[in-house]
Amino acid sequence: MKNNQMILKIGSQGDQVKWLQRQIKTLDDGWFGIMTEKAVKEFQAENDLKSDGIVGPQTYAKLGIRSEDPNWICLHVTATPENANHVNADWVKRYHMEILGWSRPGYHFVIERDGTLVELWEADLSDGLQSHETTFGIGGWRDSAAINICLVGGLDSLGRIKDTRTPEQRATLEKLVKKIHKETPKAKLVGHNQFWNKACPCFSVPKWAESIGFDQANIETQDPFGYAKTYNA
Ligand SMILES: [Zn+2]
Repeated sequence: MKNNQMILKIGSQGDQVKWLQRQIKTLDDGWFGIMTEKAVKEFQAENDLKSDGIVGPQTYAKLGIRSEDPNWICLHVTATPENANHVNADWVKRYHMEILGWSRPGYHFVIERDGTLVELWEADLSDGLQSHETTFGIGGWRDSAAINICLVGGLDSLGRIKDTRTPEQRATLEKLVKKIHKETPKAKLVGHNQFWNKACPCFSVPKWAESIGFDQANIETQDPFGYAKTYNA
């Protein structure tokens, strides 16, 4: 069983609670309060379990472990100047976990300048994106529904925004997103800058997605800050 079976009860909070709330069809605010407890008790009663409002192994077994398919495949850059050669996948992982103190890295994948693909955090999408399989690339709730991919680069040697993708990175990225698309056909390709007012990933993900043959249905169109419109593919 892959899902993290942390006991959940009144006072629990976080992504695991959100997952639970979605399974029992109650508001998924990530906070296990009285409403959630009531919904759990009802679920337990319906499934001939002891109706104690505490989610342990027996309740998990009835809930099943399937999580939801991710909504997005979100693309990022590290915001590294072109002449900085010390930044690679290992650097990113250590920065997030050792310096920022995160419990996991910000991205599932990093693509280095020479096209090398490194998986930083494993997500088996055959059973949806489980809460323990998520990363922190976007910021906020969307990370619970996203696969995050980051390219090393994004700035020129003076630190100005630039699409620095090498041909090798483009090739690796295309292969990777097509592979993930097969595993989770409903997820939409999106750039970080389509959610937040920031340049990342310094190119237009919708334009690029179209150029590699992605279906419109698999391209996120929201672009409140206009980056996807103005940047190149
Ligand atoms: Zn980003």
